[in-house]
Amino acid sequence: MSGTPVRTVAPEVRLLLAITGLLLPRSLRRDWMREWMAEFLQGFGAERKRALARAAGAIADSWTLLQIHGWRQRLAELARSRATPAVFSALALATAAWSTHGFQSARSFLSRPASDRVVLLMQPIPFMGKSARLPLAQIALWRRESSAIEALGVWNVERESSQGRPIRVLKASPAARRLLAESPIRPQYDVVQMEEDYAPRFAGVIVKLRPGATSSQIEAEFSATAKLQKNWRVPGVAPLVAVAEAPLLPVGIVLAALLLATLVSIRTASAPAFLCAMAGPCLCLATITAVWLEAVARTPVTETGQVPLFWYALLYFFPIATAALAMWLFRRSAAHRCRTCFQPLLSAVLVGMEGRCLFEPGGSEHLCAEGHGALVVGHAAQNESDKEWISWSHTWA
Ligand SMILES: [Zn+2]
Repeated sequence: MSGTPVRTVAPEVRLLLAITGLLLPRSLRRDWMREWMAEFLQGFGAERKRALARAAGAIADSWTLLQIHGWRQRLAELARSRATPAVFSALALATAAWSTHGFQSARSFLSRPASDRVVLLMQPIPFMGKSARLPLAQIALWRRESSAIEALGVWNVERESSQGRPIRVLKASPAARRLLAESPIRPQYDVVQMEEDYAPRFAGVIVKLRPGATSSQIEAEFSATAKLQKNWRVPGVAPLVAVAEAPLLPVGIVLAALLLATLVSIRTASAPAFLCAMAGPCLCLATITAVWLEAVARTPVTETGQVPLFWYALLYFFPIATAALAMWLFRRSAAHRCRTCFQPLLSAVLVGMEGRCLFEPGGSEHLCAEGHGALVVGHAAQNESDKEWISWSHTWA
């Protein structure tokens, strides 16, 4: 054992070097890697920030090398590699995991014991200058008369400006602050203003029900109060858990169906091709699902018990649209790859009898560069979709 401390290279630096090294052709990669590892072993040690800054230099360095080597050529090589779709999907997943601290919000959202006893009153939105929201006097009466309430809090998010910047201020009664802190979803705000006796004209109302109390019971109680004043109404009741979990089932089913349809439609003829073909779509869909669950866990709620319009797009449209596009791209890419080695097929060669192409169009053949087979497209193909894969026996290869 020597007396000098053993220097190690930080794992994120190793990862960065490994990924950057992938850009380089194999002939250059080994020397490049050795030089940079040596640099880190001598220079830095535990100083993470400096090491990372230096690692950024490695990216620039590999870029310079790549320009000398010819980056277009290298890019074409990379695109042809059979592992490229899977590697890109894995990188996207790793980046998403890194930037969300390992999908922290999604994990705590999914592991949280669901309680549908915390509800929000869904109040109609003001329309044509008339306020349709529940007046606090009605809430106060309900609170006095009701047998369903364990705790009740009122809250608002008001837009104010601080040093010229617009900020969202959460103003909430102590009970509302406590209930919102426990709730699976919360309003969007920048600062909390402590107000002990908070009494605006209208507010969001968050309620914790007694065990056994139901939303129909609350509606009946509100119907009784609504008879007393002309502008008093009966609000809807939304368990906060239900608001947050609403997209899970419909979107989840669509995503699973998209993945299944893609996996079923991809044909392969060997185990390595099968693994490469399946890994890409699976990893890609895992990324989309994880990012989407992270968004679900961060869904904000408005005072009227709704989700802001932008979030509907994010929770429903975004995952389905991106997954559909990605799966379509994977299917398209897989259709133009060899079913044995999963390398892209060569460009088309016309087949059919010479001089008869006009009346008896043959079609075209896309060959595998390794000689595993050919994809026949057009009338020459036997099946109805006009695409046929022909595997060649090993003697041809
Ligand atoms: Zn092949």
